[in-house]
Amino acid sequence: MKIRAAFSLVLCSGLLSSYSAIVAAQAAPSPTPSADHHDRKPDDIFKLKPLGGNVYALYGRGGNVGFYVGPDAILVIDSQFKDIAPGIVDQIKSVSNKPIKFLVNTHHHGDHVGGNEVFKQFAMILAHDNVRTRMLASPVDIQRDYPAHLEEAKKAGDAAMTKFYSDQIEWAKKVKVEDIAAPVLTFDSEFRIHMGDETIQVWHLPPAHTDGDSVIYFEKAKVLHMGDDFFNKIIPFIDTSSGGSARGYLAALDKVLARVPAGATVIPGHGEVTDIAGLKAFRQYIADVVDAAQKARSAGKTREDFLKDVDLPAYKDYSGYKDRFKANAAAAYDEAR
Ligand SMILES: [Zn+2]
Repeated sequence: MKIRAAFSLVLCSGLLSSYSAIVAAQAAPSPTPSADHHDRKPDDIFKLKPLGGNVYALYGRGGNVGFYVGPDAILVIDSQFKDIAPGIVDQIKSVSNKPIKFLVNTHHHGDHVGGNEVFKQFAMILAHDNVRTRMLASPVDIQRDYPAHLEEAKKAGDAAMTKFYSDQIEWAKKVKVEDIAAPVLTFDSEFRIHMGDETIQVWHLPPAHTDGDSVIYFEKAKVLHMGDDFFNKIIPFIDTSSGGSARGYLAALDKVLARVPAGATVIPGHGEVTDIAGLKAFRQYIADVVDAAQKARSAGKTREDFLKDVDLPAYKDYSGYKDRFKANAAAAYDEAR
């Protein structure tokens, strides 16, 4: 849906370096590749990867899609953006013509739910309670927050952002809440879907990327879709304005690592498909950020001094280090005791 794609993309600015790039990525007919998928050309944004057990990963322009082909129906995880959702459906149809009956949203950001408007025509959309709450609140949030951003964009002479904010405000004024393609079946802790001989587990985790995060585990295929609770070799975005938390990331990752077998295949929200070792490497990054913040706080360092000096050279080659590392460190400092 238009607004979510835009609104949450700003929140997920994690993946693109500037608001202008975000707007360009949305407005341009040929997609601007995101940092993690820079090797794919605009006319070749999709990459399909079979993972065994009838589970597939589908890379595109937003958060990684996962899908499972059951004996009677297909379940999809995340829908990227509205404009490329028909392309996602085509990719799935190239594997199987079975009906797409379920769409699970890992969280509310627009690069994961933007295509819901397309999927809701044929699939039941499921997600954590907070995903629905945040999506339905977006018109009010936009009307409250965007006029100030619009003024800033006008002052800065940024035509693209001026248009972006104007369009969003217009949309927020007009949209009927019941027309927002939010999940229709929501849950608070976990549930399972049974399709053929596969059991698909959906777990809500402690607040990490947002306060509505879910991960999906295919028991028989041993494939785990982490949503944005895992950015593979990419500095994550911790959306503290949507209840996200650096320490929460650790709790969430530990919960997952305790439940999933060592041989599992892991689909991150962004970046390449990997394994449990890849997931553990990401946990180590979060642990190192939290540790650095805690040490600084314990030593009486001010927030300002900490953010000026903090550096974790081991992660400098992660995409987005320049753009998001300090924000991760700030979140960790604010939570340190
Ligand atoms: Zn996200």
